[in-house]
Amino acid sequence: MIAHNLGYPRIGSHRELKRASEQFWANKITREQLQDAGRRIRQDNWLTQQQAGITLVPCNDFSFYDQVLDMSLTVGAIPKRFRPLLAQSTEAQPATDLLTLYFAMARGYQQDGLDLKAMEMTKWFDTNYHYIVPEFTADQTFTLLSEKVFDEFGEAKQTLGTAPKPVLLGPVSYLLLGKEKETGFDRLDLLDRLLPVYEAILTRLQAQGADWIQLDEPMLSLDLTNDQRAAFAKTYNQLRVQFPKLKLLLASYFECYGANLNLAIQLPVDALHLDLVRCPNQLDDILQTDFIHKQTRLSLGVVDGRNIWLNDLERSQKTIQRAVEKIGQNRILIAPSCSLVHVPCDLNSETNEQGLTPDIKQWMAFARQKLDEVSTLVTLFREPTNAQATAVLTANRAALVARRESTLINRPAVQARLSQLTEKDAQRQGEFAERQPLQHERLQLPLFPTTTIGSFPQTETVRANRAKFKKGEITLGQYEDFIRAETERAIRWQEEVGLDVLVHGEFERNDMVEYFGELLDGFAFSENGWVQSYGSRCVKPPIIYGDVYRPEPMTVRWSQYAQSLTNKPVKGMLTGPVTILQWSFVRDDQPRRDTCLQIALAIHDEVVDLEEAGIRVIQIDEPAIREGLPLRKENWKTYLDWAVRAFRISASGVQNDTQIHTHMCYSEFNDMIEAIANMDADVITIETSRSQMELLDAFVNFNYPYEIGPGVYDIHSPRVPTVDEMVDLLQKATNVLPARNVWVNPDCGLKTRRWAETTEALKNMVQAAQTARELV
Ligand code: GLN
Ligand code: ZN
Repeated sequence: MIAHNLGYPRIGSHRELKRASEQFWANKITREQLQDAGRRIRQDNWLTQQQAGITLVPCNDFSFYDQVLDMSLTVGAIPKRFRPLLAQSTEAQPATDLLTLYFAMARGYQQDGLDLKAMEMTKWFDTNYHYIVPEFTADQTFTLLSEKVFDEFGEAKQTLGTAPKPVLLGPVSYLLLGKEKETGFDRLDLLDRLLPVYEAILTRLQAQGADWIQLDEPMLSLDLTNDQRAAFAKTYNQLRVQFPKLKLLLASYFECYGANLNLAIQLPVDALHLDLVRCPNQLDDILQTDFIHKQTRLSLGVVDGRNIWLNDLERSQKTIQRAVEKIGQNRILIAPSCSLVHVPCDLNSETNEQGLTPDIKQWMAFARQKLDEVSTLVTLFREPTNAQATAVLTANRAALVARRESTLINRPAVQARLSQLTEKDAQRQGEFAERQPLQHERLQLPLFPTTTIGSFPQTETVRANRAKFKKGEITLGQYEDFIRAETERAIRWQEEVGLDVLVHGEFERNDMVEYFGELLDGFAFSENGWVQSYGSRCVKPPIIYGDVYRPEPMTVRWSQYAQSLTNKPVKGMLTGPVTILQWSFVRDDQPRRDTCLQIALAIHDEVVDLEEAGIRVIQIDEPAIREGLPLRKENWKTYLDWAVRAFRISASGVQNDTQIHTHMCYSEFNDMIEAIANMDADVITIETSRSQMELLDAFVNFNYPYEIGPGVYDIHSPRVPTVDEMVDLLQKATNVLPARNVWVNPDCGLKTRRWAETTEALKNMVQAAQTARELV
């Protein structure tokens, strides 16, 4: 039995890589200094893993930006617009200058008379990691361009004194994760041109002394077409013939192989990795097939690579035991369920007891601790009486019992309330058709009412004041005086600009999830629990460890204050339950659905309190509903059912004439429009400005009855839109929607913008609404 790992966080345990890259981009450190920082992190990671007892240590899992972009560089898939940089670099300093090209592809390049747009970035499966999407053309060629994988193999081998296991994104997933940049071909057609480069890579790795190679093919976790399945078979048969001696480990994760299971077990590889956290039943499915009569090994991903909870070692032992009985110890590898880049580095960096109390901390494991779990599991099989391992097992058992029974986790009142939920709790008093005229009468808004999505510029001063308050340099009273002043200024400013439905500006919020997490029971915050989101950007998700409970109102004071300053309606502003869930580490001891419903109840109470305080319009943001969609379509309905129910529970409980808004900022509604309509929100604001209102088609085709605010101002750019272009967008909207249902607003919050451009843009927006009113 072998302990191995699929990948380790590369940001460094104190975000060293973030700092080094950003300094390099700002020309504050040299290329060599950046390379050194990278090398130090890699060596630390390799030694850490080796010392933890991992025998098969991954290499090439390091990346200065993204592993998919690394692959594009390695196989020379450089989009045409970047070729000038490539030409410059190969003449002068070939190896090092690839870094300039690499960062240009990731971040764009404006220098030396060149203005090159960055490559597109998108979510990595259902994680919060983002990868750089490969771009392909019909005449696409591939060539071995970057030496990264060989360099890192050499480095790792020297550091470890033994052969590491290079990790490569497999050729089929690499192609499928990319995009055709022109019509007339299918990216899978490029496989024959791509495979020779993979063969060249494997040939060289073999010559360097590689024994195992990990090929990540996470596309096997999605629904595939027959052609796509055939591409897998062809690829791995071909590689097998070329490399009879290399040990190929095929890894997919985040979902079951599902309908691809038969394909996966037929592939002529040496080991197949199973994500047994996301798909525990998969093991028994496989052990029932003739797979057990083959030679192929199984890599059992029993330690959760996506979450931060302690492993249940005994349960993992039982799982492993079942496999051992059927195929024997020698055919088994033990690993985390997926690469550990999705969890923070090291729980031992959490020293502030105000963040994670010792009680809660003992239930958790970050990447470093997960390595220990993997290696303990292996030790317990090799030597069941090993003193250290059995001590760990005993402590593990005790921690799990303590967690289960903890009063910190269990709030009987919350659980009781959850169990008493009925259909009625997810139901507004009347239907939308009944609510709409009552709301119109109460709010007295003009046609095409104008509003914003919630936040206003979070200026340096706002952030500085919050930082000072957190450090204790100013008192709570001083901080709140400051926020009140900012809020008042924002209200006056909105009145001047001429907006119809105002917001308080969210100056008191650091982040739309963290703010609520800090005010709710059941949430904890790490000090150093950073996870890479993309490039140098890291996030520190809140940790939901227990039953969620709202000890007291969270936003009422600020909304009420803002409303007291004006006669115009001020929108109450809340983050929805699904978004809070989606952007946190969620407890694993109850279904996600239940945790979501608990959050929904807390938001419900807040909504009721806001109404009680005189707030007539309440927005519940759900920008993350879409990203929670399961990877396989067959699981969508179950998820959407509870997600929509959670939203409805939050929004119900108010009178018919209280208007509920929701907001989502992404660009695909077609495949989930029914669920969105089921949310029963009186108004939805969405991101549409870039798509020229094409997005509205989904709503129109569905006969969506509710009011819609299609964004007319792209807030992702400092550019100020003109009145005319916004009028134009509004006309496009009224061509397909009844005028009385159309709102006028930006795409999203204005947190990242500056006041100057915001003022101009919103004045134009109000003017555009005025013009549109005159046109009907
Ligand atoms: N109300 C939030 C804001 O304006 C919404 C942010 C979002 O959609 N991501 O900042
Ligand atoms: Zn948004």
